[in-house]
Amino acid sequence: MKRKGDILLQSEPFVHVLSHKQRGRRCDSCFKSGENLKRCTMCKVVRYCNAMCQKEDWTSHKGECPCLKRVFPDVPLDSVRLMLKLVLKQKAGDNGQSVKNDIGWRNFSDFKSHSEEIKCDQNRTEQLSKIVFTLRKLLGDSSLPPGDKLMETFGKMLINSFTVCDGELQPIGVAIYLSPSLLDHSCEPNAVVTFQGTKLTVRAIKDIPDPSPANISISYVDQLATKAERQRQLSEQYYFTCQCSRCNDNSLDREMLGVKCQSGGCQGYHSRREDNHFGNCKECGYGGKNIRNEDVEQFYEACLECLRKIKEASKTDPAEVLQMCKQCEEKQNKFFTDHNVHCTQLLVKAFDAGIDSGQWTTALQHGLRVQQSYRKFYPPNSPHVGIELMKVGKIQLYLEQCPQALMTLQQAEKILLITHGRSHPVYDDLAELIHQCTEEMRVRMSIQD
Ligand SMILES: [Zn+2]
Ligand SMILES: [Zn+2]
Ligand SMILES: [Zn+2]
Repeated sequence: MKRKGDILLQSEPFVHVLSHKQRGRRCDSCFKSGENLKRCTMCKVVRYCNAMCQKEDWTSHKGECPCLKRVFPDVPLDSVRLMLKLVLKQKAGDNGQSVKNDIGWRNFSDFKSHSEEIKCDQNRTEQLSKIVFTLRKLLGDSSLPPGDKLMETFGKMLINSFTVCDGELQPIGVAIYLSPSLLDHSCEPNAVVTFQGTKLTVRAIKDIPDPSPANISISYVDQLATKAERQRQLSEQYYFTCQCSRCNDNSLDREMLGVKCQSGGCQGYHSRREDNHFGNCKECGYGGKNIRNEDVEQFYEACLECLRKIKEASKTDPAEVLQMCKQCEEKQNKFFTDHNVHCTQLLVKAFDAGIDSGQWTTALQHGLRVQQSYRKFYPPNSPHVGIELMKVGKIQLYLEQCPQALMTLQQAEKILLITHGRSHPVYDDLAELIHQCTEEMRVRMSIQD
């Protein structure tokens, strides 16, 4: 029996690559951020906290190092580097029996490759030929394994890669873990994955009476997506169709795709049905057939286009992003319900842009609305909900709304204790915020007295 919050398993990566966006900001070995990182003097690409991290990484880096040196100053893509590391491991006959912390459910040779599906998938085969093209430059012709071997390794890599995230759930790298990759997917999982540096931890978010691997599930995709979107991602990347309880229940989807009642003045909404038509309004019964599907399609497209532009702008100016969000929001508000997934995605962007541009009050307004949708669409005890609450609480504290901040941070604490545990650095940050908050309130009370 495992209770919610219990650790189910931990594992260090079999291979890992720090994202190119993080190069120079984080250590290539432990993924911790740091200043004055020391560069490998041979390849001049990877950087480490100190000699210890370099030593720790040497078994993994020694094969890659001369290859990186060969193409310097070009640096291959993250996916190519991951593939290179796998190829080098295989050449050395290393299937990962001795990966640290891993409980040994499986090693790399047990992985399924889905070669047959990949052979029929044009995008994937094109991607593989690009990778092989660069691998040849990196390794030199003679050392490249035969084509079917490469296809197999590529398949194993695609299906079993984990995106390594920092405490705030932002991606910082990519890695292959052995035992954790045995866990199946569910859109309503009973376990979650978090990272501390490169170490992966799986914790139960529900009580699991028999915690054998077949009874543990994690979500491979973001749950803030409609069934159609999740299923598309799962079949494109993992070659299966999800049959989980959430995929068999359309009620959340109806809300995610809600359109405000068009009869005027009514608070109800029309929801999109399986056949892509709209049902009658839940409140007043106004006919869904009065909503023209083409109009909605056009509107959806326009919103997606907006989001694309916003994502593009996110790289440069947060204040501009916020302005773009406002304009798009005005349009959406007339048409979409508050919980429509397009609105939520936009709100998330506006929330982050508000934080990045230091517009705290605006950020808070958006953050509070994001929270409502997150609680609806993410399962209970989701790390996304916990982290979002923590961000909102931090802003409330900054804006001196102490009682609200304390309430929000305590809600975050309840969730993060289950998803991250007391030993995770994120929990330390949270505890510090709660401490600041109670101190602030104590000081105010004593002034009032
Ligand atoms: Zn090097
Ligand atoms: Zn390090
Ligand atoms: Zn599902």
